[in-house]
Amino acid sequence: MGLITKPQTYNICFSIAALVLIFVTYLIHASEEKVFNRQGHIFGALIFDAFMLNLMGLIHNAYLYSDVGAAAIGYDINCYVVLAEKLFAHLLPYLSICYVMSIFQIDFNTVLKKAIIIIPTAYSLSVFMIGFFTRFFFYFTEDGNIKFIYPQGATVYIGADLYFIFATYLLIKYTKTLSSEKAYALWVYYILMLLAVPIRIISRSSSIFEFSVSLALLLCVYTFQNPSEFVDRMSGAATRNALNFAVSTNLLQKKEFTLYGVHIDRLSVLIGEKQPEKAAELLSQITEYLRGFSPDGIVYYPYMEDFVMLFPDVTADESTIEKITDEIKRRFRDHWKVGDEEIKLIETPYAVVFPEEVDSLERYNEVRGVLEKALTKQSRDIVRVADINLKVVEHDKKIDGIVKHALDDELLDVYYQPIYSPVTGKFSSCEALLRLKDPQLGFISPAIFMPIAERNGTILAIDKFVLSSVCDMLSKTDVRKYGLEYTEVNLSVVDCIQTNLADNVMGTLNKYQIAPKEINFEITETYEQGITAAMDENIRKLMEMGISFSMDDFGTGYSNLVRIATMPVEIFKLDKSIIQSAFESETSYMVMLNLIKIIKSLGKEIVAEGVETGEQARQLIKLGCDHIQGFFYARPMPRDQFVQFLKEHNG
Ligand code: C2E
Ligand code: CA
Ligand code: CA
Repeated sequence: MGLITKPQTYNICFSIAALVLIFVTYLIHASEEKVFNRQGHIFGALIFDAFMLNLMGLIHNAYLYSDVGAAAIGYDINCYVVLAEKLFAHLLPYLSICYVMSIFQIDFNTVLKKAIIIIPTAYSLSVFMIGFFTRFFFYFTEDGNIKFIYPQGATVYIGADLYFIFATYLLIKYTKTLSSEKAYALWVYYILMLLAVPIRIISRSSSIFEFSVSLALLLCVYTFQNPSEFVDRMSGAATRNALNFAVSTNLLQKKEFTLYGVHIDRLSVLIGEKQPEKAAELLSQITEYLRGFSPDGIVYYPYMEDFVMLFPDVTADESTIEKITDEIKRRFRDHWKVGDEEIKLIETPYAVVFPEEVDSLERYNEVRGVLEKALTKQSRDIVRVADINLKVVEHDKKIDGIVKHALDDELLDVYYQPIYSPVTGKFSSCEALLRLKDPQLGFISPAIFMPIAERNGTILAIDKFVLSSVCDMLSKTDVRKYGLEYTEVNLSVVDCIQTNLADNVMGTLNKYQIAPKEINFEITETYEQGITAAMDENIRKLMEMGISFSMDDFGTGYSNLVRIATMPVEIFKLDKSIIQSAFESETSYMVMLNLIKIIKSLGKEIVAEGVETGEQARQLIKLGCDHIQGFFYARPMPRDQFVQFLKEHNG
C-alpha cells in the first residue's frame, strides 16, 4: 500500500490511465461515420498528438523511476523521448485552436492569417530543435530531466500563451452559437486543458497534465464529435443541428454564403413505406452522390425531403451553381437502384444566398417551401429567392396554419360537379371537389391548399374525410334514383403510397354500405413515373375490389405513352388546359385531336374537362368524348343543391 503514495507510482498510474482514456477516445472516434472532414481530421490529429505525448511521458517515467527501465532505455534515448514529449506538448495548443476554429467553421484563408496561427508553434518547435544542439535554451541534467535556461528558455511558452488568449477570445465570441450543453462542454474542455498547467507546476507531475488532456478529448468525442447529434444514421449525412450550427456561425462571422438545396418530391412518403435498410440505402446513395459537389465534403439532410450543401462565397457564383444544377438534373433523370428495385426521384434544386436574400434560418425555412413551388410553376432549372414573391411566403404560412385545423374547425365541405354523358343525355357521374372556407380569407382554392396539405401531412385525413362525405351523400340521398352511376374522387399520390390504403377505403365503403363500383378514383400522371411498388399494389387491390380508376389531367405531364397505355385505368380526363387552348389555336387543336385518337384507339373512355361554352361541348361530343365536365353544364355545388340539380335534369 505504501507504494501508492510515492509520486513515481502515481505518476506511472496516471500515465497508464491517460493512455487508456486516449485509446477509448480513439476507438469511439474511429467507429464514427466521417462527415465533418476537416473537423474530424483535426480531431484525429489531436488524439494522435495526445497519444504520443502520453507514450513519451510513460517511457520517460519508466526511465526515471525504475532501474530496469533506466537500464533498458538509456540516457540518450531518454533525451530524445523528453524532447519528443515537449514537441507534442507544444503542438497541443496549436491543434486545439485549429479544432475550435473548425468547430466554428472559421477559415483562415489568407497566407498571412495562416502564418499568424502557425508562427507561435513554429517558434516553440524550433526552440526545441535548436536547443537540442546548443545549450542556449535548455540542457539535459544528469538524471535525464530537461532544465530551461532563463529568460530565453521561458520564451518557449510564448506560443502557448498566445493561443490561450486567442482561445479565450473565440470562446467568448462564439459560444452563443452553441447549444447550452455544448457551450458548457467546450468551457470544461478549455478549463481542463488550462488547469493542467498549474497542476503540473504544483505537483511536478507531467502525467497529471497528460491525464487531463485525455479527459478533455474524451469529453469532446461525446459532444462535438458526437455522431448521433451531427450525423443522421439513415443517410450518413449531417443533421439539422449541424446545419443550424453552420448557418449561425457563418452569419455571426458576417460571411456571405449560399445554401444549395435539392428538394426531392414526396421523399418522406417514399421513405416511410420502405423497409428501413432500403430507405437507408437510398438516402446514403443520394448523400454520397451529392458529396462530390460539396466544397467541404459535407452534405446535410436537415429536412425530410431536402438535401443541403453550404457553398462559401468563393464558390457560390452563378456559373458554378448552374453547372452543378445541370449535372444533378442529368443524374436524376436516371433511376436510383436499391437492391433490384429501380426508383425514380423528382428533384428541385434551389439556391439561397445568405445574408443578402435571407438573413436567418427561420426565414430560410419559410422560404424553402415557396421556392420549390415556384420552380414547378416556372419550370426553371434552379429557383432563386429573387424569383419569388415573398408575400407568398407569408400567405403560405397562414394557409398552412389554417389547413392544419381545417378538419377540427369544420372549415371543409365537399362540393359536387355534375358530369354530362351525351349518349344517355344524362348527368350520370360527378366529381367530388373539396372546398375550404376560412372565416377571414373566404374560399381558398384547393389548387392552393392541397399542395400545402400534402407537405404538412394533413392530406391523408382530408382525403379520408372527402371519401366519407361522398359515401354519406350516396347513402343518405336519392342521387342513385336520379341516375347517378358513380362519383369521381381525387386521390393524392401521398394517399396512394400508404400501404393500408386499400383496407382504409374498404372500411369506409363497408361502413356506409356503398358498392365499390359507385366510386371512381382519379389519379394523375405522376403515377406513371412509377414512384413506388406500393402504389401499383394499391391500385391493383382496389381494382380487384371493383373500384375503377381515371387518369386525371391527361396531357399536362411528360408521360411515357407506352406505360400509360398499359395502366389499368378505364377513363382518361383530358385536362382543361388542353381543351381551352385547343379552341384558341390551330396547333393545339391538332394536339387535342391526336390525344383523343390515342385514347380511343386504346378503347378507353374520355372525359373532357373545363368545357365552358356550348360550342366547345358540341365539338367535343362530335369528336367522340364520352363525358363532358365544365362550367357550361354546371359548376361544383354543395350537396343539397347537387341532389336538386340531378332531380331537375335527370328526372
Ligand atoms: P382537378 O382534379 O383537375 O379538378 C378540376 C378542377 O377544374 C376543379 O377545380 C373544378 O372546379 C375546375 N373546373 C371544372 N369545370 C371547369 C370549367 O369549365 N372551367 C374552369 N376554368 N375550371 C373548371 P378546383 O375545385 O379548384 O380543384 C382544383 C384541384 O384541387 C383539382 O383539380 C384537384 O387536383 C384538387 N382537389 C380538389 N378536391 C380535391 C380532393 O378532394 N382531394 C384531392 N386529393 N385533391 C383535390
Ligand atoms: Ca380531378
Ligand atoms: Ca383535372
